[in-house]
Amino acid sequence: MIARRSFLLAGAAALFATQATAANTQQGKIKAVTSFSILGDLLRNVGGDRVEVETLVGPNGDVHVYSPTPGDARKLAAAKVVFVNGLGLEGWMTRLVAASNAKAPMFVVSKGIAPRQMEEQEKSGRPTAIDPHAWQSVADVKIYVANIRDGLIAVDPAGKAAYDANAQTYLAKLDKLENVVRAAIANIPAGRRKIITTHDAFGYFGAAYGMAFIAPEGVSTEAEPSAKDIAKIITQIRKQKIPAVFLESISDPRLMDQIARETGAAVGGTLYSDALSEPGGPAATYIDMMRYNIRQFTKALIG
Ligand code: ZN
Repeated sequence: MIARRSFLLAGAAALFATQATAANTQQGKIKAVTSFSILGDLLRNVGGDRVEVETLVGPNGDVHVYSPTPGDARKLAAAKVVFVNGLGLEGWMTRLVAASNAKAPMFVVSKGIAPRQMEEQEKSGRPTAIDPHAWQSVADVKIYVANIRDGLIAVDPAGKAAYDANAQTYLAKLDKLENVVRAAIANIPAGRRKIITTHDAFGYFGAAYGMAFIAPEGVSTEAEPSAKDIAKIITQIRKQKIPAVFLESISDPRLMDQIARETGAAVGGTLYSDALSEPGGPAATYIDMMRYNIRQFTKALIG
């Protein structure tokens, strides 16, 4: 399957390579490609009118397990600049770049942040992996924005003033966002700042703002939990006095009701961690996503 996909990508690259140069200058805009929806939003904010943004993994998509298409290879081949998260997030990108024969410089927007380890693997004793979800810390996203600005200036020096101004405007919005997040957390009693979740995406958020995100012990986060798993989760909630759970791997509402009934813990709704919602949804931009999640946390932990 992998070999076949690479073959398709290589074919697509050959087919579209000749169109790449023309596409670069289409409408006079800089063609910038990025890996997933959250970076797409940041890139649009910094790029403004000068940049045409193409996002490979769109709203609600899973950037961890993405399978690139020939269309993605075409987008990369036509790109003037590429932005990725790095920290091991886009494992599929190296092969895609090779297959598309892309020549555009690629910038790693997380460059300069302090990487965290994944909690789950620390506990299991296996070699630790870098946690890629740095965008869950607003302070880290400010570094992302600076890297995006510098990358755009590198490929389009004539736009320097515009990129500087756009970045400054957006960074001011991030300052406000950070204040909103901190104020919301400060409002939650210190002893209640803990959540059980199957999402392993909030390590940077927890470290930045003083919240504990606890994985369900001995429960697979991949599959729908069994009755035995639910019993384990209930024991853990009681023992660790967890006030709220966000367990999206459980699709059966009766199991969620059972957890709520037997533990008194609040059962939270959807969280957006790795992708934005569709436009018009509750998390259509990075800032909306962070505001939405903090409302979910507050609702579950304060009531
Ligand atoms: Zn993730």
